[in-house]
Amino acid sequence: MSLTSIDRARAFDRLHARIRACTKCVAAGYLEHARPIVAGSIRDRIAIVGQAPGAVELTTGQPFSGRSGAELRRWLAEAGIDEDHLPYRTAITKCFPGKSPTGSGDRRPSPAEIALCRPWLDEELALLRPRVVLLLGGLAIDHFWGKVPLESAVGRARSKNGVTFIPLPHPSGASRWLNDPEHRVLLRKGLAHVRRAARAIDRQASGPTMRAPRRTGAALPFKVALPKSADGRR
Ligand code: SF4
Repeated sequence: MSLTSIDRARAFDRLHARIRACTKCVAAGYLEHARPIVAGSIRDRIAIVGQAPGAVELTTGQPFSGRSGAELRRWLAEAGIDEDHLPYRTAITKCFPGKSPTGSGDRRPSPAEIALCRPWLDEELALLRPRVVLLLGGLAIDHFWGKVPLESAVGRARSKNGVTFIPLPHPSGASRWLNDPEHRVLLRKGLAHVRRAARAIDRQASGPTMRAPRRTGAALPFKVALPKSADGRR
């Protein structure tokens, strides 16, 4: 039996309530506190899957609200997606895992935590049915694309069962990957894929579109020539 859009919206609200009440990692001894964080609506056609919320998100309760969120918004603006049309935002694990013992960035969630949290992500994506999934950082790429070096995935796009997967690096300042100019070119290619995917959604939309008014690349802290699309436009 197929769900109506109202049924789906209600089921999505119930799913979010169940996710926000989850304490599985506390019960299993992996976390001291659970504060699951997701944001977005059943109407979103693009989903972003990151690694896990950070300390700032723990305070605000909103995904990507810290420095890496600001960087992500710059990237989305470059792809023509404005603040009013932020995609659905979720993560491989939905609670702040704490700081890394090495002191560099946040702790990477363990395979056991990922396994505990994965059913939530599967349910979110099954209900949301996004047209495009942005894979933000190595952990999300590992899970949806395959375990490959970032430079083998970023800059590419792959469609499976009607869903386009687009790998991007994590926008966290803790990553030095983007210090390499060649990697920044790959990011630009990845964002060009995002822009084309958002345009394709817009062309089929009867309601509000994904795209902001045309912006230049000046918001990004670096400038690299954008690849042209097949029709010769940028
Ligand atoms: S990380 Fe996921 S499984 Fe673990 S407590 Fe948070 S929501 Fe639950």
